[in-house]
Amino acid sequence: MESRIDRIKKQLSGASYKLTPQREATVRILLENEEDHLSAEDVFLLVREISPDIGLATVYRTLELLNELNVVDKIQFGDGVSRYDLRQEGAAHFHHHLVCIECGAVDEIQEDLLEDVEAIVERKWNFIIKDHRLTFHGICYRCQEDK
Ligand SMILES: [Zn+2]
Ligand SMILES: [Zn+2]
Ligand SMILES: [Zn+2]
Repeated sequence: MESRIDRIKKQLSGASYKLTPQREATVRILLENEEDHLSAEDVFLLVREISPDIGLATVYRTLELLNELNVVDKIQFGDGVSRYDLRQEGAAHFHHHLVCIECGAVDEIQEDLLEDVEAIVERKWNFIIKDHRLTFHGICYRCQEDK
């Protein structure tokens, strides 16, 4: 975790930002809850436990900054709430999500798997792909076992 914080610190300083204690507290919460898809409010409530003086606006600005620097991605799952998701280190594109329509669980696929589709889109639509959002809706393996 410390080495990842160090690398995020370098990313910030490369863009002339400092990893202030409040920003660091926000990054720690994101790392500790990496499998979750937290909203700004979720992050705020957790950060407040380790940094009681922090305000929602500060957390929100930090998340937006991390989003600009590609440390986190923003995603919505149809409930109108923006969620912040750490990007895998070194990943060129955003990972995919499996949203269960029965229990609401959100699982992740870290492999891109889209190389062939991307090649077709780039060729046929003459479009340079920078990123993508792919969410599958269906029934997770846990809910299938319950049947
Ligand atoms: Zn995710
Ligand atoms: Zn891709
Ligand atoms: Zn499920």
